[in-house]
Amino acid sequence: SPTLVWFRSDLRIHDNTALAAAARRGPVIGVFLRCLPQWQAHGHGANKLDFTRRGVAALSESLAGLNIPLLHRDIEAFDEAPATLLALARELGAEAMHFNREYPLDEARRDAAVIEAFEDAGLAAHGHRDAVAFAPGELLTGKGDVYGVFTPFAKAWHKAITADRLALQDAPEPQTRLSVDADPIPELPELEDTPVDGRLWPAGEGPAADRLERFLRFRGRHYDDQRDFPAIRGTSELSPYLALGMISHRQCMQAVMAENDGALADGDAGLTAWVGELIWREFYQHIAAGFPRVCRHRAFQRHTEALPWRDDEAGFRAWCEGRTGYPIVDAAMRQLVATGWMHNRLRMVTAMFLSKHLLIDWRRGEAFFLRHLVDGEFGANNGGWQWAASTGTDAAPYFRIFNPTTQSQRFDPEGRFLAEWLPELAELSPKARHAPGNDLLSGVDYPAPIVDHKAARARALDAFKNLPPAS
Ligand code: FAD
Repeated sequence: SPTLVWFRSDLRIHDNTALAAAARRGPVIGVFLRCLPQWQAHGHGANKLDFTRRGVAALSESLAGLNIPLLHRDIEAFDEAPATLLALARELGAEAMHFNREYPLDEARRDAAVIEAFEDAGLAAHGHRDAVAFAPGELLTGKGDVYGVFTPFAKAWHKAITADRLALQDAPEPQTRLSVDADPIPELPELEDTPVDGRLWPAGEGPAADRLERFLRFRGRHYDDQRDFPAIRGTSELSPYLALGMISHRQCMQAVMAENDGALADGDAGLTAWVGELIWREFYQHIAAGFPRVCRHRAFQRHTEALPWRDDEAGFRAWCEGRTGYPIVDAAMRQLVATGWMHNRLRMVTAMFLSKHLLIDWRRGEAFFLRHLVDGEFGANNGGWQWAASTGTDAAPYFRIFNPTTQSQRFDPEGRFLAEWLPELAELSPKARHAPGNDLLSGVDYPAPIVDHKAARARALDAFKNLPPAS
């Protein structure tokens, strides 16, 4: 009988643990459950949904090359997954199904319910560890707790990693053609936003592998020096591909090792710094699983729940639209809306500006990011936002509030990024672009700063100082 493989955020045929395990048993049939209403309720917007659709289409094509049909089903909510998959298994005469685990709360519950439904029906559903080198719970502190701080987590990760955990899984050999036809991959219905031009983010394993190769060939060794400068393409831009599993973290790690004498922690400073970022990605998945309150819109640091967030619609709108009068913030927000991606340095700057300078609830920013990001991933997004707002793990100490103007001068010294995204400021001298005064702005359609840095900083410090002590 055929074995089912349920694809989710692992849209690839190479190094796919569930697919490889299923293919070892015999003929395989793939299935993808599209769950638009629930994904939208989770906050994912047009860019991510469009990238997913294109990724599923690319996957279906790759699978067709192996004679593996990909079936496509629409469901309204995750709780329909068990019945839908079970019905499919029965219809196809499959006795087992394989999938790769996902760790945020709703996804983990969905997967547990599927496993239970299959067991109750006398069938088997196997959840594999695939997206991470260590499943949540496998790396714990000396006291047996989930790590709540990154640096010791990363140390433990490096200490415990083995070749086995990073070994690539074989892509299946082509199988004999089955009598089941693949489903066409439906278009998306009309969404609230229009997705960005798909050519910015070509979907599939091929484009992902190309990006990895180009990054390692031209930029990997300069990563530590260049990654903070948004005017330079110094980072891999692989995040959307990692988020949807068009490339695996193991493929990334293996490619680094091939360039770096087999090492991950020693050797070239650029490459090892990049490995560190991949470990951040894994860390936040452990946080989502180990501290499920963060999946329920709660702060990681409980005492920060008492922060008096401001109700400031005008401020929030100005931030969303890139009209705060702080050019680095505005350029970054326009990059996000125009491309579905924002440079990491600027994610930190803009998130801190919203949560500290405007003292607006970080959850509103988290949601706006998710609505626009093509790489929107719960763990990294929530982790990044809570870091910036000083409510999370490794929280930026609340008194370290980025000065956006200084950040701009430091990380975009020639004002090139500013000129690219704020053409209205391109005529100013590079130096003046960081904080154009009123005299320079006459006749230019660009707002004056909506808050004063010093006063805003003092307001944020007060809010944090008045919190009850951390328990
Ligand atoms: P590179 O620098 O090339 O890094 C390689 C990979 O490591 C990335 O593709 C990503 O998978 C991972 N990574 C890098 N930095 C981090 C990090 N700080 N935390 C977790 N993983 C990391 N990343 C997302 O993938 N999805 C998100 O929704 C997301 N939201 C964020 C929100 C905020 C407020 C902040 C501060 C960061 C967020 N990040 C998110 C992390 C980071 O900004 C992006 O992963 C990175 O900018 C993607 O660009 P890149 O692929 O060129 O990264």
